[in-house]
Amino acid sequence: MKYLVIGNWKMNPNTKAEAQKIIASVKKVASQLSTTSVVMCPPYVYMSLAYGKGASLVALGAQDVAPEIQGSYTGEVSATMLRESGAAYVIVGHSERRAMGENDELISRKVARALEEGIIPVLCVGEKTRDKEGLYMEELRLQIKNSLQGIEQKHAHKIIIAYEPVWAIGAKEAMTPALIQETAIFVRKTLTDIFGQEKALKIKVLYGGSVNFRNATEIVSQGSVDGLLVGRESINPLGFKDLLIAVDEIIK
Ligand code: PEP
Repeated sequence: MKYLVIGNWKMNPNTKAEAQKIIASVKKVASQLSTTSVVMCPPYVYMSLAYGKGASLVALGAQDVAPEIQGSYTGEVSATMLRESGAAYVIVGHSERRAMGENDELISRKVARALEEGIIPVLCVGEKTRDKEGLYMEELRLQIKNSLQGIEQKHAHKIIIAYEPVWAIGAKEAMTPALIQETAIFVRKTLTDIFGQEKALKIKVLYGGSVNFRNATEIVSQGSVDGLLVGRESINPLGFKDLLIAVDEIIK
């Protein structure tokens, strides 16, 4: 079993020089890992810096994709363009994009486009808040079901789910490993209802939300997830290096 760690740089950093520093650092540490795969998702304009030398060590991902194939869609980037630029992964439906107005229907079309192009979609799901009555479970279930609407069973194993409770993103503390484990089971159960057990078992479920080098080990080992989606710590070269080494040590 290999763990997967995906770094979401969001709209950072502001200079090419800083981007180059992060890329060099991640590639260097990735060359020392044995059980952990790394994906870097920089802003589009830095993708070419990350692709090229050392590209085999760290896979490249994008942070979004257009649902259309090509055409008059100002500001959009197509799945074909991403593939041509070296992207093997794309984050879809991040809560920050959902907050800008993306809904499950649009997100499902983005997932489908990525799959058609042979790019692995990293579908982000997660409840906004937690209520005592457990209604957030239904919110999560519907988000997963509707964001995967129309996705053929044969493609299911290529999808990655990033469970990211919105309240834990950009926060002080991550969710506790016990709650992560409980929710990861619920996510897998929902995937089983959609695709059947055999296919669902092949889908990687990651956790994201305030992961850093200090809490990564317990989240992965006790949270029963297949890896992490990391925001802030992924653009901190030293912290991300320690995080990757810590995750890699879990199976060694
Ligand atoms: C994210 O936005 O996907 C994320 C996990 O951010 P952070 O790690 O900074 O909470």
